[in-house]
Amino acid sequence: MKEKKSKKKDKKERKKEKRGIPESGNGNLAIGNRNPKNGNGNPSAESAILEEIASLGKKELIKKAKKFSEKFCVSDGKEFQLKDMDPEDDEGMGPGDKAAAKKALQMGVSALAALQDMLYAQDRWGVLLIFQAMDAAGKDGAIKHAMSGINPQGCQVNSFKAPSSEELDHDFLWRCMKQLPERGRIGIFNRSYYEEVLVVRVHEQLLKSQKMPEELITKDIWEERLQDIRNFEKYLNRNGIIVCKFFLNVSAKEQKKRFLDRINDPDKNWKFSISDAKERKHWDEYMHAYEELIKHTATKHSPWYVVPADNKAFSRIVVASAIIKTLDSLNLEYPKVSDEKRMELEKVKEELLAEE
Ligand code: ATP
Ligand code: MG
Repeated sequence: MKEKKSKKKDKKERKKEKRGIPESGNGNLAIGNRNPKNGNGNPSAESAILEEIASLGKKELIKKAKKFSEKFCVSDGKEFQLKDMDPEDDEGMGPGDKAAAKKALQMGVSALAALQDMLYAQDRWGVLLIFQAMDAAGKDGAIKHAMSGINPQGCQVNSFKAPSSEELDHDFLWRCMKQLPERGRIGIFNRSYYEEVLVVRVHEQLLKSQKMPEELITKDIWEERLQDIRNFEKYLNRNGIIVCKFFLNVSAKEQKKRFLDRINDPDKNWKFSISDAKERKHWDEYMHAYEELIKHTATKHSPWYVVPADNKAFSRIVVASAIIKTLDSLNLEYPKVSDEKRMELEKVKEELLAEE
């Protein structure tokens, strides 16, 4: 297993340049948008950042969120290499930025809530958000925080674990298809059909339990599944269901730290399962499987966001920003009422005002 050593800053910058990523501060949600020295908890620097965030109007905030999230978006996977993505990347956000990060997230969440309200009212588009990651990467926290301001009526979350015997009696997309979001809603998949090219690929013996006819299990099966997924998402797009996928990219080093924390803290013991440590032993195989699936399924209309996940606060802002970008791309607006309906409303208004 490879544990990535912390990289030197100039190496990070070179990587960013290679990916066409602007220097820190360009389009940032006002965190890390400064001299890194300010990340040391300096209260005046922090309050300046807070002030800057608070002064942003909703439109401006959406614009910033869009630009910020673009850096992590893979919309054409052909050239994608996981080694170009740094799990530690947090644009120099230091411990002193906690309050600013919280504020940025809060504002992002309220912009998100406003967009979701229009999505629900318009009732045309559906949005599917898929979260995939290694254990302890922070999927649950990212979902919880990013969706915290959302109207629960407009949102549905599904977690996909090892399939039941009923599910195994069907094709692999079946159980996920049943949970697709309705129009006007945001559906969240905590794990998804992508497990079919992740855990099943890493543990090939799982294919046997899938009751597939033997002659269909060939060396091409992973490529075929990736193709099927790509086509399925295209089908969804053509039906007005937008798909946006997140890979929370945590490093092996950080995962080890979080596992130890879960073992050492009795209140966190419940979060740790022995199988998590077993899966960790297959780290490189999982990373290969992630790289392959991003290569084959990142498209303009169903992109992957490869979210640096070693800094949880930062990753939550990236996720919220990407959801804002996705919703904003739908040009949502409240449904307009007809002139006739408008006249009816005026009439009712007059009657109401005339009441004693
Ligand atoms: P958390 O650990 O935070 O509760 P989780 O998503 O890891 O969340 P678990 O119950 O620990 O939830 O794990 C679910 C397990 O189910 C994962 O190890 C995943 O790989 C496995 N799984 C999901 N889909 C499939 C599938 N199609 N075939 C086999 N295993 C699957
Ligand atoms: Mg788990």
